[in-house]
Amino acid sequence: MEFSPTENQELIAQTVRDFAQRSIRPQFMEWDEAQIFPVDVFKQLGELGLMGVLVPEQYGGAGLGYFEYVTAIQELARVCGSVGLSMAAHNSLCTGHILMFGNEDQKKRYLPKLASAEWIGAWGLTEANTGSDAMRMRCVARQDGDHWILNGAKNWITHGISGDVAVVLARTGELLDSHGITAFIVERGTPGFKAGKKENKLGMRASETAEMIFEDCRIHKDQILGKVGDGFVQAMKILDGGRISIAALSLGIAKGALDASLKYAQERQQFGQPISNFQAISFKLADMATQIEAAELLTMQAADLKNRGQKVTRQSAFAKYYASEVAVRCSTEAVQIFGGYGYTKDFPVEKFYRDSKLCTIGEGTSEIQKMVIARDLLKG
Ligand SMILES: Cc1cc2nc3c(=O)[nH]c(=O)nc-3n(C[C@H](O)[C@H](O)[C@H](O)COP(=O)(O)OP(=O)(O)OC[C@H]3O[C@@H](n4cnc5c(N)ncnc54)[C@H](O)[C@@H]3O)c2cc1C
Repeated sequence: MEFSPTENQELIAQTVRDFAQRSIRPQFMEWDEAQIFPVDVFKQLGELGLMGVLVPEQYGGAGLGYFEYVTAIQELARVCGSVGLSMAAHNSLCTGHILMFGNEDQKKRYLPKLASAEWIGAWGLTEANTGSDAMRMRCVARQDGDHWILNGAKNWITHGISGDVAVVLARTGELLDSHGITAFIVERGTPGFKAGKKENKLGMRASETAEMIFEDCRIHKDQILGKVGDGFVQAMKILDGGRISIAALSLGIAKGALDASLKYAQERQQFGQPISNFQAISFKLADMATQIEAAELLTMQAADLKNRGQKVTRQSAFAKYYASEVAVRCSTEAVQIFGGYGYTKDFPVEKFYRDSKLCTIGEGTSEIQKMVIARDLLKG
């Protein structure tokens, strides 16, 4: 595996870094405080090609690979995890599902709009009572001639209110049958589809998370992705790729926490010297840097496999599990290095600390990643 960044990656890193400094840093705390989802920022990311990073150029995307994708999310999350999370959910989940399993008509209709950010995408798997145990979902779709009638609700959905189009997983067969779930494309404005409660969150507050409600919502059979009954297997494949983007999000947060800590530790004086002179502090920095390096290698390994079209289940779980725990550890240590100032909203580490926790929960908790890894190891 080649470790040095490609020319494309360097260009993307610089472009996203400049964009984040110019268009995100001045307002990110305001968005966080008021839970504002900054739609305009995503429109601008669309103009930069970052809302369809993996979408081929023929469908209006940037036609890039996972190395570039990981680079872009990291650079956004280094400044604001919320923007990184929303970009990841839009690209990997909704857009990724249509790209991977859509037919030609579906790709032509949705991908150009999603890649340009004319439309924001959402992806609904989770329900109030079924998170890790998604196969027990209660949202049902019943066939009625050429249509399917959707009833139920999806919870914790990124862009559940602002999403213009959603990929929704619903039960079309027996409970606990892995071939009893189907993926539907549902457009905002379809009668019977409305947004529900917006969550008031600990972190990632500028990334909108809300309920989607379906009441006798009629969906034409042409809106099915792949075949009836394929939805659960599709969703697991989508999460294999999505977890690489959450690893990238985690890395960005961890790097942001380290950047801030390095600067502060050399500026802050106690006992007549910079606190970086104390081994207790410098060893924290060394531990953070070492863990970030290891998390980055795991993430790039998963990205490399994905680029080569190989199975990535175990490696994306390694990357997501490890990088997300590193993000939590690094942001916790960053708050400690900042002391009392780290406990205020005047410095960015407080936000990294709150945002990082989502990474060990979303797209499969750390416990679920360990189950995925163990299952893969034990099947031989
Ligand atoms: C900000 C945010 C954005 C999200 N965006 C989306 C989205 O866009 N689309 C979507 O579909 N979902 C989304 N989710 C949902 C997310 O994927 C779920 O929260 C996650 O999968 C965990 O499910 P849960 O919250 O129901 O926790 P639960 O499944 O109830 O888990 C609770 C605890 O029990 C543990 N646990 C559960 N089962 C086991 C087991 N078998 N063995 C050991 N431990 C276990 C878990 O690890 C966890 O610690 C989002 C969540 C958040 C917070």
